[in-house]
Amino acid sequence: MDLGYGTEYEACREQVRVFLRAQWPPRETNAEDATAEQIQSFRRAAVDAGYLYRNIPRRFGGSEQEADILAAQIIREEFGTVRAPMELTGQGPQMLAPTLLEWGTDWQKDHFVRKAIEGEHIWCQGYSEPGAGSDLASLRTTGELRDGEWVLNGQKIWTTHWKRAHYMFALVRTEPEAGKHAGISYLLLKMDQPGVEVRPLKQITGDSEFAEVFFNDARTPADWIVGERGAGWTVSRSLLRHERNMIGSANRSAGLFRSLLRLARSAQIDGRPAVEDRQVREALAAIHGYVETQRCSSYVQLTRELQGRDSETLSLLNKISDTNIGQQVSLLAHRLLGAESALAPRGQPAGRTSGNEKWMNQFMGSLGMAIAGGTSNIQRNIIAERGLGLPRDAAAARDEKP
Ligand SMILES: Cc1cc2nc3c(=O)[nH]c(=O)nc-3n(C[C@H](O)[C@H](O)[C@H](O)COP(=O)(O)OP(=O)(O)OC[C@H]3O[C@@H](n4cnc5c(N)ncnc54)[C@H](O)[C@@H]3O)c2cc1C
Repeated sequence: MDLGYGTEYEACREQVRVFLRAQWPPRETNAEDATAEQIQSFRRAAVDAGYLYRNIPRRFGGSEQEADILAAQIIREEFGTVRAPMELTGQGPQMLAPTLLEWGTDWQKDHFVRKAIEGEHIWCQGYSEPGAGSDLASLRTTGELRDGEWVLNGQKIWTTHWKRAHYMFALVRTEPEAGKHAGISYLLLKMDQPGVEVRPLKQITGDSEFAEVFFNDARTPADWIVGERGAGWTVSRSLLRHERNMIGSANRSAGLFRSLLRLARSAQIDGRPAVEDRQVREALAAIHGYVETQRCSSYVQLTRELQGRDSETLSLLNKISDTNIGQQVSLLAHRLLGAESALAPRGQPAGRTSGNEKWMNQFMGSLGMAIAGGTSNIQRNIIAERGLGLPRDAAAARDEKP
């Protein structure tokens, strides 16, 4: 099987490499360890060169390139290899921005997209509620239009990025008389206002990345609705697709595996590098097999997308693979670090940690990935129904009858 991209694309790969050699010289440290200014100026150069934010129009801060899935893949691979910063991650740049480009009004795009992708506005996601997680359409937070403003009442939970978030995109029931899915609208709102109360949740890592968010007559302007009134469910489906692609990236798994290899080279077993131990090598080889399988599966996903065919099932499979790989990598890292890893200090934000603490957080976080963005069970249900054509989950089908 030839997994090469062909001469034209190998030339594109060479151009990317030349750009990276000039703009991101080899370094031992992670991209996160470079200064904020270095990262920002690298990203600007990469946008100018057409390598980042390729699907975002220039007027919103992107590089507005022709859709080319293979070129985009090559860029991800090459940036990943030298650990150069890719697009900013997070719910604003990766989830809200593409959703607004698809569904937002001109004003919403002008006002929010550039600031989301450049990190000036931090966004959080207000979907889940107590009693509305997997069965998201059961949500009960209400939005009522009064005097040109939406007035919100209810509660969200598991709100990530609450600490820094300026805004939230939220699903809210605005049409109480309509059916379960038809009654939901998609609203944007400011976090810093008297009607929004945030109560942090304490995690096993000691950190509080999540919060409960309570709305008591919280307010947002009437035109901060994305899509039509009552069409929030449709808008949210496209956002969830972006979320799964964000979580299920094959390059992320490959990057994690590279970190594990570095750890296996530096950790010691009986005075020798752990990477020389037979059991460790076998475990590494097994995980590498999963990483390569995910890479091939993402190639099949790319091929289907190039052919304009549906690739939803593969994107779900890739999210499940990513979750499994994350858990296996963390378990092996734990074994390599031994008791030391349990002594890692707690309470640092996950992105700022290093050494044992980084792996401890990776381990804890890897468990959550089986839940975030739709649990693995739910992904399997969808694969079974839409991918394999098995009968609908009886409870869900009953629920959706008008
Ligand atoms: C790291 C992390 C970050 C998150 N960030 C956010 C965020 O920023 N904003 C936000 O809104 N939410 C966020 N969430 C919440 C997340 O979307 C929900 O936790 C998830 O959708 C599951 O909902 P739940 O917790 O209510 O579990 P439930 O839906 O109650 O599920 C409990 C268990 O039952 C299983 N189950 C439920 N229904 C079925 C079924 N039909 N078939 C088979 N099994 C089923 C589930 O798989 C799960 O194992 C985050 C969660 C995590 C872990």
